[in-house]
Amino acid sequence: MKYSSRNDFHGGIHCSDGTDKELSNKNPIRFYQPKTVEISMKQSAGSSGEVAVSIGDRVTKGQLIGTPTRFGTANIHASINGTVQDIVTTKDSQDNDITYVVIETDTPDETGEKNRTPNTTEYHRGFVDISSISKEDIITSMKEGGLIGMGGAGFPTHVKYETTNQIDYVLINAAECEPYLTCDHRLMLEYGYAILNGVCLFLKAAGAKKAILCMEDNKRDAAEHLSNLLFQKDLPIEIKLLRTRYPQGGEKQLIEAVIGMEVPAGKLPADIGVIINNVGTAKALADLIFAQTPLVSRCITVTGKVKKPSNFIVPIGTRYAELIELCGGFTTVNNRVIVGGPMTGTAVLFGGGVSDLEGSVTKTSSGLLVLEDQIIIETPCIRCGQCERICPAGLAPFKIDFACINEDYTLCEKLYATECISCGSCSYVCPASRELAHRTTKAKIEVLKLRMERRKKHNG
Ligand code: SF4
Ligand code: SF4
Repeated sequence: MKYSSRNDFHGGIHCSDGTDKELSNKNPIRFYQPKTVEISMKQSAGSSGEVAVSIGDRVTKGQLIGTPTRFGTANIHASINGTVQDIVTTKDSQDNDITYVVIETDTPDETGEKNRTPNTTEYHRGFVDISSISKEDIITSMKEGGLIGMGGAGFPTHVKYETTNQIDYVLINAAECEPYLTCDHRLMLEYGYAILNGVCLFLKAAGAKKAILCMEDNKRDAAEHLSNLLFQKDLPIEIKLLRTRYPQGGEKQLIEAVIGMEVPAGKLPADIGVIINNVGTAKALADLIFAQTPLVSRCITVTGKVKKPSNFIVPIGTRYAELIELCGGFTTVNNRVIVGGPMTGTAVLFGGGVSDLEGSVTKTSSGLLVLEDQIIIETPCIRCGQCERICPAGLAPFKIDFACINEDYTLCEKLYATECISCGSCSYVCPASRELAHRTTKAKIEVLKLRMERRKKHNG
């Protein structure tokens, strides 16, 4: 295990004293199997699958129920055995159409703690010999099993591995740098062998010489646990502890911190010989290859202003409201419910009751966070320069903010708005409470639209 205490990447902030994570990282992962799941056909930003079942169909866990419609989407599978009760299209919190396949279980035994993944299987107890599994088999399984990045971006994993570039390093992102979230931390403590077996599969799929499991130094217990497991076998896997600093888990920041290389603007990690996967995705790959289970469940942290913050492993499609109930309900009336972490998550409810909470767990739902809502009033920028100093992408957020308000997206492009990683650090430090992250993200989207229009014009 190696430890790096230097300032590993440009900018960044220290936004947590650790007490927020302690709400949920002390207790074992809980298991819950709902009677009904509502599986969204939108499992990652900007991409929806097409429904492949009809109302009344009997489906089994792992059966394909949604197929990709375009690049960037992945297969979607039934997460429980049951019958398709409904297929509904509704609006999400950003007013986008979103279709759900509603499945009701017809197997009563499936409900409750009984469904805990049996840790007696070989890949949960030791290292598995993967010499008979080919690189092509692994990549095909990733594709068929609907594996996507579970850290938040939700990009199909197989696409990263279909690269023609020479890959030297596989980085496993276990930074979990956002405050409050602890699902990856608990997975490392409880599913060490499954994760390391998954990392071996990633190494083989990439043809890489080394994998580095990267985590912040607030997870020393997990680092020690995994190091102890690695002592048993000579594997090209290193564990690296990094200084706790947000956004340590950003792809470009992690690469800079761990191997000292910079990903040029507009390029991908694979262009410099690196593939990054989330630690939860490593476990999911092991489930896929060794238990033939497509990506149908995930670990999620439910925390903040709830009676009993917890981590759960639940089927994809478990309703958020049920998870809040399992945690004893809200402890504040003046709530703001966020899917994801406090820095990059999406607010889905303000001040409502549990029954008002809509939506369900997707493959990328790392957290369900309840905070005390606050009224924030923007005031004019005082040119303090803080946002520019801490921006990990090296941008000048106050300038992009101004250009975006004026809808001058050509200027936003010149200010490299497309390099924004939407980390939220600028908004966090701004003494004028400017909605910087919101506007830099908007500017990024508008610049990408501009470029697409230009390309269309150019192509006639
Ligand atoms: S401009 Fe983007 S990358 Fe820079 S701090 Fe703000 S949200 Fe993060
Ligand atoms: S941190 Fe806020 S007040 Fe300071 S320069 Fe940036 S936008 Fe202006």
